Amino acid sequence: MKTRDEEALLARVAALLESPEHAGHPLHDALLALYRQHCDQHEQIQRLINISDRYQLLAMEARQVTQERYEHSLRRQRKLSRISDGYQALMRERNQALHQASTHDPLTDLPNRRLINERLENLVNQGRAFTLALLDIDHFKRINDRYGHDVGDRLLVAITQTLSATLRDYDLCARWGGEEFLLLLADTHLEEAQPIVERLRASLAAVAIPVADQRLSVTVSAGMSQHRPCEPHQTTLKRADQALLDAKRAGRDRSLTDTL
Ligand code: GH3
Ligand code: MG
Ligand code: MG
Repeated sequence: MKTRDEEALLARVAALLESPEHAGHPLHDALLALYRQHCDQHEQIQRLINISDRYQLLAMEARQVTQERYEHSLRRQRKLSRISDGYQALMRERNQALHQASTHDPLTDLPNRRLINERLENLVNQGRAFTLALLDIDHFKRINDRYGHDVGDRLLVAITQTLSATLRDYDLCARWGGEEFLLLLADTHLEEAQPIVERLRASLAAVAIPVADQRLSVTVSAGMSQHRPCEPHQTTLKRADQALLDAKRAGRDRSLTDTL
C-alpha cells in the first residue's frame, strides 16, 4: 500500500517525465527508467504482501478449525464420561439392590437364611463361641385365621422392628421361616444369652398393633443352644430346634435350653 505522500510524489514525478518541456533533458531517460523500476518493485512487493496476507488468513482459519474440532471432541469426551459415570453408579446401585434382595427378606427386611448361614459358617471356621436362639410366634395361624393375612403381616413387621431395636449391634437376627426367627449371639455363652432372650421375649410380648377397637399382641417361644467346639452349625441348630419343640410342648410363651 502506498501512502498519500508516496502517491503524490510518484504522480509529480510522472507528470514531470511526461511534460514535453523536459523531453530532451539529459537526465530524462535515466529518471524514467528509475521511475519504472521503482513502480515494478512496488508492484512486486504488493504481490508478496498479498500472498503473505492470504497465507496468514488460511493459517488462522486452519487453526480455528482445529481448535473447534478439539473443543467438540472434548465436549463429546466429557459427555461420554458423564454417561459412563452414571452407568457405573446405576450398576453399583443395581448390585447393591441385588445383594440386598439375595440376603434379606422382603417383608421384614431382616437377613435371610442364606446370610445367617454364611455368618454361622464363618464363626465356626474362626472357632468363635456363639449361642443360637430359635424364636417362634405362638399360635400365629390363629391371628391369620381370625383377622386376615394382612393383619398377620403387620404384626410380623411390628415384631421385627422391636427385635431389631432390642438386639445388641453385634447380634444378628434372621427370618428363618414364616413366623420363626433365628437369633445369633456371637461370643456369648448360654448363661449370658438366657437373660437376653428373656428380655427380648418380654419386649415382643409388649408389641401390640391396633385392630378395629382392640390391640393385638402375641407371645413367643424360644429354643436355645450353645455351639460346641468343632460341631457344624447345623448340629447346634438342630438342638435349638428341639429345645423350641420342648418349649411349645411345655405350654409355649417360654424359652428352654437344649438338653441333648
Ligand atoms: P405354634 O404356636 O405351634 O407355633 O402355632 P402356629 O400357628 O404359630 O404355627 P403353625 O406352624 O401352625 O402356623 C404358622 C403360621 O404362620 C401359618 C402361616 O400362614 C403363618 N405365616 C407364615 N408366614 C407368614 C407371613 O409372611 N405372613 C403371615 N401373615 N402369616 C405367615
Ligand atoms: Mg413355626
Ligand atoms: Mg408359631
